[in-house]
Amino acid sequence: MRYEDAPVKNAGGGDLPALGIDIGGTKVAGGVVAPDGTILDTARRATPSRSVEATEDAIAAVVEELAERHGGPLVGVGVGAAGWFDRTGDTVLFSPHLAWRNQALRKELGDRLQRPMWVGNDADAAAWAEYRYGAARGSDLALVITLGTGIGGGIVLDGRLQRGAHGVAGEWGHMRVVPDGRLCACGNRGCWEQYASGTALGQTGREVALSSPAAAADLLDRVGGNPDLITGEVVATAAQAGDPLANELLCDVGAWLGQGIADLAAVLDPEVVVIGGGVSVLGEMVLTPARERLERALPGRGFRPGPRVLAAQLGAQAGLVGAANLVRRAVCEGEA
Ligand SMILES: [Zn+2]
Repeated sequence: MRYEDAPVKNAGGGDLPALGIDIGGTKVAGGVVAPDGTILDTARRATPSRSVEATEDAIAAVVEELAERHGGPLVGVGVGAAGWFDRTGDTVLFSPHLAWRNQALRKELGDRLQRPMWVGNDADAAAWAEYRYGAARGSDLALVITLGTGIGGGIVLDGRLQRGAHGVAGEWGHMRVVPDGRLCACGNRGCWEQYASGTALGQTGREVALSSPAAAADLLDRVGGNPDLITGEVVATAAQAGDPLANELLCDVGAWLGQGIADLAAVLDPEVVVIGGGVSVLGEMVLTPARERLERALPGRGFRPGPRVLAAQLGAQAGLVGAANLVRRAVCEGEA
């Protein structure tokens, strides 16, 4: 029986591990994930981003390596990738770092791997993992915001991932927060991720180094005096080492984060907002100013409860853990 013909509801396999795959701009990371979210084994390959075939070859190689080492039966393969997927998850509409354009990814990978598949947005998968196993566990309405080079995220409402009418919900990194502000890769100006992200931290660092080189002496020392080399990572490292200017820049990013959370709270009234992604490793250096701004900017402040703002718990593995659990749900519970 081919997997397409298999009954999906109550299909069993609930106690078997699943494979989770997280496709980033530079690497395909995979893991064998137990039903309780424990990662039993991992493998990775470089992501060859220019060709559709080469990217899918890398995914297949990771799946085959993990399946062979695992030896036993697996529930299926969940794949999370940066990109916009349609609502069903069958088709990737657009992926910023990869060659996928209107690609029928779920069918192509399913035919090739001959395994049940879940395919979707990587931030959605990470959000699901935080809901299922991490900081958003048990929440009725959770927003998970991934703060990395940009801002992504996912929404879990009443125990279901909310993908939106067209599959692209949670792209709040492109809310306009500054009219005619910084140019964004999406083609618009003033998007939230231009002010609250690792990229924003680097850009502000470069701007300050050009306008006030004396104040930015520590930052400039770290890059051999060339302001063009100041990245978000450079500013973050300087802040962790106690540089007051870098710390101030980090507080700015945190404040922008809090402002955006207040705007989202006005629309969705979430119970918790979980902050994950690369920038979130800075923890309270970002979260404290975010909570302070949220408290000041929340509509109706003082007369209504606001969301709790928490650090993500699953770290860089959230995407693959979430993807593995989502294919488990698809197979065992018939959840899309
Ligand atoms: Zn944008």
